[in-house]
Order: sequence, then structure tokens, then C-alpha cells
Amino acid sequence: MIRYGEIGLKGRNRSDFEKRLLENIKTTFGKEVDIHIRHKRLILPVVDEETLKLYERLRFVAGIQSYSLAYMTDRSKDQILKAIIELVENEKDGVSTFKVETRRSYKKFPWSSMEFSALMGEEILKRFPYLKVNLKEPDLLIGVEIREEGAYVFTEKAKGMGGLPVGSSGKGMVLLSGGIDSPVAAWMMMKRGVRIEAVHFASPPYTGEQAREKVFDICRVLARYSNGFLTLHIVPFTKLQLSIHRSVPTKYSLVAQRRAMVRIAEKLASRRRADVLITGENLGQVGSQTIENMKTISSAASIMVLRPLVGLDKQEIIALARTLETYEISIRPFEDCCTIFVPKHPATRSTPELLENLEKNIPDYEKLIEEAIENVETFDVEAVW
Ligand code: ATP
Ligand code: MG
Repeated sequence: MIRYGEIGLKGRNRSDFEKRLLENIKTTFGKEVDIHIRHKRLILPVVDEETLKLYERLRFVAGIQSYSLAYMTDRSKDQILKAIIELVENEKDGVSTFKVETRRSYKKFPWSSMEFSALMGEEILKRFPYLKVNLKEPDLLIGVEIREEGAYVFTEKAKGMGGLPVGSSGKGMVLLSGGIDSPVAAWMMMKRGVRIEAVHFASPPYTGEQAREKVFDICRVLARYSNGFLTLHIVPFTKLQLSIHRSVPTKYSLVAQRRAMVRIAEKLASRRRADVLITGENLGQVGSQTIENMKTISSAASIMVLRPLVGLDKQEIIALARTLETYEISIRPFEDCCTIFVPKHPATRSTPELLENLEKNIPDYEKLIEEAIENVETFDVEAVW
């Protein structure tokens, strides 16, 4: 039984959202399953071991609030009780207290929720006399849901990702380095329903095969949250980077590089019909990440640039990276293109006008940008589970 809180509240587009969530679950599973919508719940019959394995993937699907492995029965008191007894049998190790909690959306059920919980409680006490009822902090919480199509009995509620189904909030192009932050930024937007493609700037031979593999590995993990696959564009950045390095005063070369990235990403975004760029920038985390520089970087393009990590502390970002399992990959020590060409003391202040003027000194700047886009490599990266 799959619950989807936030969508349930969204009166206006509920059925679109439900359908999208349903499709996303199927695509995440990578196979056709007999999953269906039943009054603000999704029901996935677990018919075999394989489905049980796929069930574990639900934690990667944005839009799901929680989910439970449940017994489904008809609405007769005896059948429900039978399921409850079986559940207690299975779960009773280390359990000394319990509580039954009934919800009913089927209003013709002959008992009120309270009455039915009490009734089931008594029956449990008869069969397991050593158990006690504890309404505040039970060891075992037995959930009963009485619904139109039948009754469900369950205990554990696994927490889902929350948020909105991927694809319900447009499409974004994330600038994905090999670092800790940008994968988290991508994930935060996916959680809010944005479908993501990634663009990575590589500078071979200054950045090696292992740095490239690292980005692929990050995509393989991020793809779990994106219906099982993620499109990755790799842009050859060496020529541009060398040219910027030679022609722009060192302290501004980082901002100039970022502006070039944003320019290229904007063109890719329009080619791929993405509505927005996303970066892992964060205010003040490193000296160069100032509001002024962000403004200078954004002004290189007319597409909107979102920075979902802007208000988080590094520790908060790391905690998220750990839960979404990109952290261990991100801390592998291979050089990113920017770590190589990065000045020791990048400017903390800049203006769009200053950078526009400096960029005039880069020979063939526009041509190099075009050339980088012409030579982009595109991959559909599949999730590792
Ligand atoms: P991250 O952990 O994502 O690398 P960071 O805190 O190290 O971020 P920077 O290295 O200054 O910050 O990069 C800021 C942002 O610029 C990154 O979050 C990413 O969105 C983008 N970026 C930097 N380098 C690259 C790259 N080689 N390819 C694509 N995007 C990049
Ligand atoms: Mg970085």
C-alpha cells in the first residue's frame, strides 16, 4: 500500500499526478506490474519474490509519502482478525505491548474506528495473553484500513521520499561536477518533481578517465531517483579553459569559466527543452561563492539559474549526500576541471560588465563555445540498484 500525501492534497491536478506517479513507479521497476489507484492510495499486489525485491525501490520514487507491506482481505471481521493474528505471530519477537489503529474510508462498515480497534485488541489479548495494550508507545502498531475494495492490515510504515513525482514540474539541466554539492542540488530538484539531465565539463588530458568514471558513477546513483535512467552530456572544455586561463586575469578566471559553462549549458538546455539550469553553488562556502559572483555568472545567460543549496550549511549538504549515497563517490580524489585551473585567490567581487569586457580578450570565444557544443557526447546512464 503506497501513500502519497502531498499529491492527495493537490485538488486541481490530482489525477494527472496520480497517473504520473504510477508511470514513474513502473518505469523505476523496469517492468510492467499490476499496480493500480484506489482512492488516494496505490496498490501493488506483491505476487512473487521478484515484486518483493522491486518493492524496495519505492524509496527512490519522488511523490511517495510512505508505504507498507500489507495483508489484503475482504471486509469481514473474521478475515481481518485472521490477518491480524498472522501478523502478530510473525512480529511477536521482543514485543510486549501493542496498539490497533483503525481507519475507515468505507463508511458502511458496521463498527466505528474506535470500536473496531477495541474489538480487535480484545481478540489479540485472548490469543496472546502475555501482551499488553499501550496506546502511547506500543512496541507493535497494527494498522487496519477499511476501504471500498477491502481491508488492509499492516505494521511497518516505510518512509518515502516525499515531494512530487519527477516530471510534474518541468525539466532542468544540472551542472554536475564530480563534487559533493551538485548531485545533492540535482536530487533536491528531482524531489520537487523536476526531470533532470546533467551536463559535465571535462578537460582531458588535465582531467583523467577516473574523473570521468566518477561522474558516470554519480549519475548511476542519481538515476535511481529519475525513473532508472539519467541523460548525461559531457562537454569537452579543455580548449576554452586554456584560452580563458591565458587571456583573463587569474583572479577572474574562475568566474569566466563558470560563465562559459552557463552559456554552453543554456544552449544545451534549449536543445533538450529544459526550462532551467541548476548548480550546486552555495553562499559563502568557498570565497568565490558570493552573491556578486552568482549574479555575474547568471548574467552570462538569459535562462534562469536555480541554486537549491544556497541556504544550506556544508554539514547539511554532506548529510543529504550520504543518505542519497553519492557522498562516497564524490569524495574520491580525482581532479575536476576546475580544481586544476582554479586560482588560489579568486575574486570575491565582480560585475557582469567587467567580465564582458575581459571576455573580449579571449580569442575566438564564440567559436570555442560553438565548438564545445558541437562536440558534446550524450549518454543515457542506467541506474545501479
Ligand atoms: P560541487 O561540490 O558540486 O563541485 P563546489 O562547492 O565544489 O560544488 P564549485 O566547484 O565552485 O563548488 O562549483 C560550483 C558549481 O559549478 C557546482 O556545484 C556545479 O554545479 C558547477 N560546476 C563546477 N565544475 C563543474 C564541471 N566540471 N562540470 C559541470 N558543472 C560544474
Ligand atoms: Mg567542486
